[in-house]
Amino acid sequence: MLRELELLPVWKLRAQPAPAEKIEIIEKTASLEAAPVFPPRASIESMDWQALKACVKDCQACGLAKTRTQTVFGVGDENADWLIVGEAPGAEEDKKGEPFVGPAGKLLDNMLAAIELKRGENVFIANVLKCRPPDNRDPHGEEVAQCDPYLKRQVELIQPKLILALGKFAAQSLLDSDDSIGSMRGKPHTYQGVPVIVTYHPAYLLRSPLEKARAWEDLCLAKTTMDNLSG
Ligand code: URA
Repeated sequence: MLRELELLPVWKLRAQPAPAEKIEIIEKTASLEAAPVFPPRASIESMDWQALKACVKDCQACGLAKTRTQTVFGVGDENADWLIVGEAPGAEEDKKGEPFVGPAGKLLDNMLAAIELKRGENVFIANVLKCRPPDNRDPHGEEVAQCDPYLKRQVELIQPKLILALGKFAAQSLLDSDDSIGSMRGKPHTYQGVPVIVTYHPAYLLRSPLEKARAWEDLCLAKTTMDNLSG
């Protein structure tokens, strides 16, 4: 079955832990106190696609603005029934400006193909964070909090029928939960009234190929949930 899915094992060295971050001490100055907050958070919730894209492109809301090459807004059908949500751009995504273009992206494409979906066709792919965390470290809470309104607005604009959350960060951030991925998968949740199915992140599946059988169960649950919604 997994062979048919082309979900074949790929072995990769685990990423080395990121070096401890330097803590930057910034003295409070009159000019910093007077600096405008960018972007104005409240305005995001009424933005159209064009305004939202422009806002994300120039976002300076957290420290990742200093280290990114470019933002990664998301890609696909803006009226898609399926919204796929990952964690954050990696090195290749940061270079290309598109989500899931590296090895994890290839696996994601195969996972989508297994349930007869294709990138860009009735599918939109986005991340919780629109900027790459340096050295592919985990997103910080503050970064997730600053980026969250963008994903929220994307969901409102797309109005997907179903969200597939890939990995712990996507699931925890969409469902506002600290639960483990193991306890969140296997049943439908909701985000703003939209059903959410949780599964493992493709990068994790590349490191832990035995979990692909569970991911296949999740994909089947997602497909059944969608089929039931569509009548
Ligand atoms: N991992 C993610 O979560 N998102 C990407 O875009 C690429 C890798």
